[in-house]
Amino acid sequence: MSKSIIIIGGGIIGLCSAYYLYKEGHQVTVIDQSSMDFGASYINAGYLSPSHIIPLAAPGVMKKGLKWMFNPKSPLYIKPRLDPDFLRWTWAFNSSCSVKNVNRGITAIKDIALLGRDLYSEIKKTEKFKFQLEQKGLLMICQTEKMLEEEIRVAEVAKKEGLPVREISSEELKRLQPDTNIQAKGAVMYECDAHTTPHIFMEEMKTYLKSNGVVFQKNEKIQDISIKNEKISSMSTAANIYVADEFVLAAGSWSKLLSKKLGIRLLLEAGKGYRIDSERDFGITIPAILAEAKVAVTPMQGFTRFAGTMEIAGINHHINKVRIEAIANATKHYYRDIVLTTQEKDGAASGLRPVTPDGMPYIGKSSNCTNLTIATGHAMMGWSMGPSTGKIVSEIVSGIKPSLDISPYHPDRKF
Ligand SMILES: Cc1cc2nc3c(=O)[nH]c(=O)nc-3n(C[C@H](O)[C@H](O)[C@H](O)COP(=O)(O)OP(=O)(O)OC[C@H]3O[C@@H](n4cnc5c(N)ncnc54)[C@H](O)[C@@H]3O)c2cc1C
Repeated sequence: MSKSIIIIGGGIIGLCSAYYLYKEGHQVTVIDQSSMDFGASYINAGYLSPSHIIPLAAPGVMKKGLKWMFNPKSPLYIKPRLDPDFLRWTWAFNSSCSVKNVNRGITAIKDIALLGRDLYSEIKKTEKFKFQLEQKGLLMICQTEKMLEEEIRVAEVAKKEGLPVREISSEELKRLQPDTNIQAKGAVMYECDAHTTPHIFMEEMKTYLKSNGVVFQKNEKIQDISIKNEKISSMSTAANIYVADEFVLAAGSWSKLLSKKLGIRLLLEAGKGYRIDSERDFGITIPAILAEAKVAVTPMQGFTRFAGTMEIAGINHHINKVRIEAIANATKHYYRDIVLTTQEKDGAASGLRPVTPDGMPYIGKSSNCTNLTIATGHAMMGWSMGPSTGKIVSEIVSGIKPSLDISPYHPDRKF
C-alpha cells in the first residue's frame, strides 16, 4: 500500500532511502535544513570499502585517542567537553573498544558494505547514471614495518571473511603506480573496493528523484515534532507543518538532537573530517590510504581528493588550518612530488560523520515511536552503506523482510 513518507535529511542516506521508497510506490518528501550541496555526503573520499570491516571502536583506539588529544596534527582528536551526552558517548565508546565488539561488528559491517557497493552498480545500470564507479581496489600504503605488520594482521581477518586481499611489496607498488614517487615499505591491496565521485552521484540522484515526483523542501529545518500515542502526528519547520504516514530520520550528525524530542536517546557524536581537492594530474590511478597518517587519496572525475582526520568536537563546520596542513604534509611525506598549493588548501571543505560508540549504524524502528524509521550513525562508512541502508529503510517501511539481518543495527541497543 502506498504511504506518504517524510525523510528528514537529504544526505546520501536520505537520498538513497527516497530512491528505494519511491521504487516501492510511496509518495516521498525530503526536508533538509541546508541547500543540499555540501557536507559529509559531498566531501567524502568516495570509497565503497567493504574492506573496512573493523569498527572504529577497536582495542587500543581510546588509548591512541588520549595520546593524540594533545597533538593538534593527529588523525583522531576527541575534544573533552562537560556535556552529559558527550560523556555518555565517551563511556560507551571506551567500553566498545574491545575484541568482543570487533568480532560482533565484522560480519554486520561487511555485509551491509558489500550490498551497498553492489547496489551502486545496480543503480548506475538501471537508471543509466553517469557517475564514476571504478573497482580498482584500495591500497593501504605503509611507511613503517610496524604499520605494515598491523595492516597484514587486519588483512588476515578480511581474508578469513572471504574478501580478496594481498600484500604488496614496495617494488610492486611502484609498478602499479609508475607515474608517482611513492615512499613506502609496502602495502596491502583490497581488490574488493571501488570508488566514486560523490557530488556527481548526489546531483544525478537528486535530478532523478525530482523528475520522478519526489518533493524536496530545501533550507527548512525540522524544529518541532508532535507525538500522539507513540506515533508522530506532525513535524514543523519555521514555515510549514508536515504530516505523513511514516517518517525517516536521516539527519546525519544532527539526528541526536531530533531523536531527543521523541524521547529516544541516540548516542551519537559528530566526527569532523576535511578534504583538499587538486585538479593537477599526479598520476595516481588507484585509491590509497596513507596508513600511518590516515589520509585517503582518491582519483576522482577530473581531480584528486586528499581527505582525512576525525575530530570529535561537536557540531560545526569550522576549518582548522592545522589539520589541513597535517593532511598536506602527510601527502608530501608519502608522495614526494606532491606539494599541495596554498590555493588548493584554501579551498578545503569539511563534513561531519555521524559516529556511534560501537561503529555500527542505527537502522530500524525504536520502540518509542511506531511510525519512525531511524537511519543514521554510519560514521566513516556512510558513503559505502548509503544504497544498502536506503533499501533496508524502504523494506522496513513497506513491511518487507529486510535484505539483511538488521538486529546488529537496532537503534535501541544497549552499550
Ligand atoms: C572527510 C570524510 C571522508 C569520508 N570518506 C568516506 C568514504 O570514503 N567512504 C564512506 O563510505 N564514507 C566516507 N565518509 C563518511 C560519509 O561521508 C558519511 O557517513 C555520510 O555522508 C553520512 O551521510 P548522512 O546522510 O547520514 O549525513 P549527512 O550527509 O550529514 O546528511 C544529513 C542531512 O540532514 C540535514 N539535517 C540535519 N538536521 C536537520 C533538521 N533538523 N531538519 C532538516 N534537515 C536536517 C543536514 O542538513 C544534512 O544535509 C567520509 C566522511 C568524511 C567527513
